[in-house]
Amino acid sequence: MANIGFIGLGIMGKPMAGHLVKAGYTLYVYDIMHESVAELKSLGAIPCRNSKEVAENSEIVILMLPDTPDVEEALFGHDGVSAGIKPGSTVIDMSSISPIATRKFAEKLAKLGAEMLDAPVSGGQLGAQNAALSIMVGGKAEIFEQIKPIFEKMGKNIVLIGGNGDGQVCKVANQIVVALTIEAISEALLLASKAGADVTKVREALLGGFAQSRILEVHGERMIKRTFQPGFKIKLHQKDLNLALQTGRDIGVSLPNTATAQELFNAVSADGGAELDHSAMVQALERLANFTIGGK
Ligand code: NAD
Repeated sequence: MANIGFIGLGIMGKPMAGHLVKAGYTLYVYDIMHESVAELKSLGAIPCRNSKEVAENSEIVILMLPDTPDVEEALFGHDGVSAGIKPGSTVIDMSSISPIATRKFAEKLAKLGAEMLDAPVSGGQLGAQNAALSIMVGGKAEIFEQIKPIFEKMGKNIVLIGGNGDGQVCKVANQIVVALTIEAISEALLLASKAGADVTKVREALLGGFAQSRILEVHGERMIKRTFQPGFKIKLHQKDLNLALQTGRDIGVSLPNTATAQELFNAVSADGGAELDHSAMVQALERLANFTIGGK
């Protein structure tokens, strides 16, 4: 069994790394926040002082970091992965970041004799905890086949989309659907509630029909119960929609409703909500309606 390194033990990375330890892999871990490293150590993982030390001890290095600059820093910054990586190793970036930067990172790693897969995920905190993530992979087919058994410890629907960066393109598409669905569910539940209907019953009825979705199930419940602790932070979804809008501008695709969803996230962020779960987008619409779901 190859030694695995895991960098970034946040809401997603911590449970994902936990599955790998439980599956029997020797796991070297690093995060700039010490508490999550201690939790992984208690499960049997080996803490490292920096990303370089992770790479020195591992044949496979997984990253699960917030944004493009964080991945660049962990790979190529001071005491980064590139300073410790051995030829023949594979870097797997499971963060959601820029497809263009991803292609550049893959080229730089190739010069060091290392392979790279981009493998962003969907399924949220629950998907990470239940090892039920959807994993969208970009990279060489033979590397994908080698790594697939490791992906299977963290996810269920694992698809090779194409070459480097294509996994990230798929994730950008995913985030458009998620944001616009949250927006639609916010409008629907808000309208129903202000019109005087029992919003819990409305959600229950909708879940049995054509409007059914995982987002209605999970985020609809959050909107009704007012549970906005993350989950998936608004500031991370803003980062993803920036990637969508920038890509749209670059290649000439108009994304009008993605832009609207981004403005609603901006409104909640401006009011101090950047760290809230993305289901809190509903708060921007509630202000426009001068009404809160449930009449509160
Ligand atoms: P998070 O903020 O909870 O965790 C990120 C972790 O990375 C933190 O523990 C932070 O300390 C660490 N970190 C940051 N920079 C570092 C560095 N240079 N070196 C080492 N550690 C560093 O974020 P998250 O919710 O776990 O999301 C991680 C990625 O997964 C993001 O790209 C996000 O868009 C994506 N994602 C999140 C969800 C979700 O529901 N939370 C779902 C799908 C995809």
